[in-house]
Amino acid sequence: MAKDYYKTLGVDKTASEAEIKKAFRKLAHQHHPDKANGNADKFKEINEAYQVLSNKEKRQNYDQFGQAFDGASGGNPFGYGSPFGQGNMGGFDFSGQNMDFDLGDLFGQFFGGGAPGGRSRSQKGADIQVDLEISLKEAVFGKTEVFSLRKQVACQPCHGTGADKGTAYEKCSTCGGSGKIATTVLGTFRTQTICPECQGKGKSIKEKCRACSGNGFNEEQTDIRVEIPAGINDGQAVRLSGQGHAGKHGASAGDLYVTVRVKEEPGFVREDNDLISEYDIPFTMATLGGEMEIKTIDGRVKLKIPAGTPSGKQFVLRDKGVTNLRGRSRGDQIVIVNVEVPKKLSKKQRELLEQLDREFDSKKKSWF
Ligand SMILES: [Zn+2]
Ligand SMILES: [Zn+2]
Repeated sequence: MAKDYYKTLGVDKTASEAEIKKAFRKLAHQHHPDKANGNADKFKEINEAYQVLSNKEKRQNYDQFGQAFDGASGGNPFGYGSPFGQGNMGGFDFSGQNMDFDLGDLFGQFFGGGAPGGRSRSQKGADIQVDLEISLKEAVFGKTEVFSLRKQVACQPCHGTGADKGTAYEKCSTCGGSGKIATTVLGTFRTQTICPECQGKGKSIKEKCRACSGNGFNEEQTDIRVEIPAGINDGQAVRLSGQGHAGKHGASAGDLYVTVRVKEEPGFVREDNDLISEYDIPFTMATLGGEMEIKTIDGRVKLKIPAGTPSGKQFVLRDKGVTNLRGRSRGDQIVIVNVEVPKKLSKKQRELLEQLDREFDSKKKSWF
């Protein structure tokens, strides 16, 4: 299931930034695909691990979620399930966890294999989806946002169990405490079903917790912190694993999807990681050449217009585009200049242009 990035880099969980960097460099050097005995897949893995562990925020998140997941498989009495990658919304898996659906786990769940408490998928907390509007600049450089959200949170007094303090669980009467019922025979195929009464736990609550009426969760206003990665595009979502609604009776929480809406920025059109902008220049500048100010996401820059620039000419401003979501490089800004022809002329301008026109005419005659 989840990859162990520390193992991948061969470092301790307490490794310092410098140690991680050192380990990465050594391994990257060793497995670089350009080398004779390099390994592209291994190199990719090392790279992925380093992307997360070298980033303070991402590492913190990884540590947090990683521990939560480890706790899940370590015999939690209330049956925290492993988080299934349910409802894939094309999101960007921010935590760096590999959430791929594991068929083995699904069968383990239904056939009761290796899940002593029984894991209950039906009790899992619901996913939450919220929209977050950001500017183009924030999409280019990334952003950390904190917002408030009302959601189901595990009940404090009963630790999410739903049972009143001090009261114990009693054996479930429906399944006799096994958590499974009805061995159905389909031909020669035997199946077991999770007990619907106790959701496979084999026990039921004697006295309900008063704070949560036995649900194991309460609705609360919570602060959510989300790191929007640089390069995110309009409509893409960041998944915060386990930050959705708390599950019933301590079942695992759903996921929180933060769908990013990028506000339109006048003067910029995004095409993949490039930014396109159009400018009008007077025909005199196009003919004689000149210099003009261009708005970039990083601020204003001067653009040299060479003499004899035709309308529709494209100028490329390197690395002034959007950051690559999976890397550090940036796209370009492409400036398209349109040559503007005046519709109205003053008397003086007209005279000057007519003079120019005669000059061209005399030249033309000499060509034939
Ligand atoms: Zn039962
Ligand atoms: Zn409670």
